[in-house]
Amino acid sequence: MPAVQLRTDVALGVAIPSRNARGRIARLGPVVDAILASHAYPPAIEQLLAEALTLTALLGSLLKEPQGQLTLQAQTEGGIVDLMVCDYLCGELRGYVRHDAERITELPPGPTLEQLFGKGYLAITFDQPMAAERYQGIVPLEGKSLADAAQSYFAQSEQIPSLVRLAAEKRDGHWQAGGLLLQHLPEGEEGRERLHTRLDHPDWPHVAILGGSVKPEELTDAELPLDDLIWRLFHQEDEVRTLAATPLSRGCRCDPAYVRSVIARFPDDEREAMVGDDGLIRVDCAFCSSTFAIEPKELSS
Ligand SMILES: [Zn+2]
Repeated sequence: MPAVQLRTDVALGVAIPSRNARGRIARLGPVVDAILASHAYPPAIEQLLAEALTLTALLGSLLKEPQGQLTLQAQTEGGIVDLMVCDYLCGELRGYVRHDAERITELPPGPTLEQLFGKGYLAITFDQPMAAERYQGIVPLEGKSLADAAQSYFAQSEQIPSLVRLAAEKRDGHWQAGGLLLQHLPEGEEGRERLHTRLDHPDWPHVAILGGSVKPEELTDAELPLDDLIWRLFHQEDEVRTLAATPLSRGCRCDPAYVRSVIARFPDDEREAMVGDDGLIRVDCAFCSSTFAIEPKELSS
């Protein structure tokens, strides 16, 4: 088996069988830099998106189907951030944040979710096309951090005791981010197939205390391989397993042919209104900031 590097841009599966716990640990570096390079966000928005992408990697790598897609979407009322979207497909990540550039100066350092999003909601959608399964859960964006919101998502929407930790830091001009997700899946059941969960199972607090002791600087330390970090946290357990590792990369699925087909469906007069001074229709991809220039003549049939 070829050795997968476990330092950066990778998500790793983790299981502690004797405690009925499993989860994911992830670290992101160059992939975050690549995604943020398409945008010119202020520091607070970069920090938010770096954490959101880390959460997206943790949740996306939980998907059982290789073609499964995970989407994280935050919608808000009266927030400085008004839309945030991240998604995951086959280890590829992308994301963007729409925000009020003027009000951003109102944010204190280390803003709360309420200061960022106002009255906000986080929708998490798991799409597994082979099983024709689409599942969406929604939680209020409350609490101190995205990690808190993700934890309440699992508690409220899925009744799974969970621990989520996220950290992101820009050092010497480069982002380092990391995250840990642990869940209690009793009686060997996996994910959504479980019929019954004891929320008060005695093994869980033990796992949550050990996992919760992880430091932000450990999560973001690209010199510390993820399997070593798991060992550091859980070496006293009878058995700790690392499962499959998923390399992470930046990927956008915007497609010139698709953009053209969408524009072609607009009525003629609306399409004419889209034509710019140079005689072309320009469409931007919000995720990667690519611009598609379309010759209006190409579309007329
Ligand atoms: Zn794109």
